[in-house]
Amino acid sequence: MNYQSIFEDAIDQLKAEKRYRVFADLERIVGRFPRALWRKEGKENEPREIVVWCSNDYLGMGQHQSVLGAMIETAQGLGTGAGGTRNISGTSHPLVELEAELADLHGKEAGLVFTSGFVSNEAGISTIAKLLPDCLILSDELNHASMIEGIRRSGCEKKLWRHNDVEHLEELLEAAEPGRAKLIVFESVYSMDGDVAPIKEICDLAEKYGALTYIDEVHAVGMYGPRGGGIADREGLMGRIDVIEGTLAKAFGTLGGYITGTKAICDAVRSYAPGFIFTTALPPAIAAAAAASIRHLKRSSAERDMQQRQAQRTKDVLGAAGLPVMPTSTHIVPVMVGDPDLCKKASDLLLEEHGIYIQPINYPTVPRGTERLRVTPTPFHDDALVDALKDALVDVWTRLGLPLTGPVSLDDDTDEITPPVTKMAVPRSGG
Ligand SMILES: *Cc1c(COP(=O)(O)O)cnc(C)c1O
Repeated sequence: MNYQSIFEDAIDQLKAEKRYRVFADLERIVGRFPRALWRKEGKENEPREIVVWCSNDYLGMGQHQSVLGAMIETAQGLGTGAGGTRNISGTSHPLVELEAELADLHGKEAGLVFTSGFVSNEAGISTIAKLLPDCLILSDELNHASMIEGIRRSGCEKKLWRHNDVEHLEELLEAAEPGRAKLIVFESVYSMDGDVAPIKEICDLAEKYGALTYIDEVHAVGMYGPRGGGIADREGLMGRIDVIEGTLAKAFGTLGGYITGTKAICDAVRSYAPGFIFTTALPPAIAAAAAASIRHLKRSSAERDMQQRQAQRTKDVLGAAGLPVMPTSTHIVPVMVGDPDLCKKASDLLLEEHGIYIQPINYPTVPRGTERLRVTPTPFHDDALVDALKDALVDVWTRLGLPLTGPVSLDDDTDEITPPVTKMAVPRSGG
């Protein structure tokens, strides 16, 4: 058997479909966020300064002095690695403090930290669902890959409900046996469309039908709510959600993931999840840096306010120039291309000719035909950078013959994905 050719064929297939992923060689520069050095393949010795427009370090906290300081100081005091799993090496004190900080952030009894948000979803969802007898999982159809992995690993029966469609969710809940254990899993901010779940309506249904709720607030923690607890914090709903999951790697600018909930749930996951038990804990320096970031964002709304301002300005400026911006109510600004090859070409031209980095988003991250550039303005993308982005995009759009139609809505093309605003306006019965 020619083993190598099998792998080569698999790669060739991605290339033929124009969705082979190429990772840019980037070096971020402390103090100059969102600027970075880019090394083109084959020209590694000639780094060029570029502007990053698609980072999930949404608030630039990865370079915040208090976060950097906590990381350096803790590494110097406690060393680099954790030294083993928590069973073997104990829990480093910065991790104890981080979990308390997280429980407080979400108003929960307990928090449990994992090595990534991906692992927290995979381990959290699978363990919670597995422990519930004959659990039925109800999952939004656009849930993240890590949640899908968790659902798969649980081995439980699963039903998908149409994205943000609470009526469909209610149909599924109604059809289930009344006494059966049910787990509703969903996100708050969906990162590719930038839309928001109808959290209150979902909580109403969960109460009406006796279901447990699990929310992924990965793209909202740090950025929404008076203390950065996420969309549920902003809407005063954290107390109605059983498990709030988040990441330390996006707006908090470090690494790691977590769940928060009751002591019983966190303790059960801690005790039963292989993805928690059999892997080395987060290093103390990262835990301390994450805690410093959370603490800062609990007190300061300046970063959140500025991010919202620059996101709105970006939408306005790009939309006014005729660029097909997808309207969102969040900090995420998707610009529709609708073709994988053109999406990659647009991204390449932006980088090579304009020094602007925005990676192409292709299938399977988004449905085929909805390939896009996903722009994430931060507090550090000032008005001049926004204007330069607009000019660069208009140039690229013109050169590639892409239409300058102005803002577009996904539901123009498909009836599967509907804007959240409409859905949230649907009056709910019961609860
Ligand atoms: C990025 C992401 C995760 C995973 O978080 P990491 O900390 O990067 O592993 C989970 N859920 C959603 C919705 C995400 O976008």
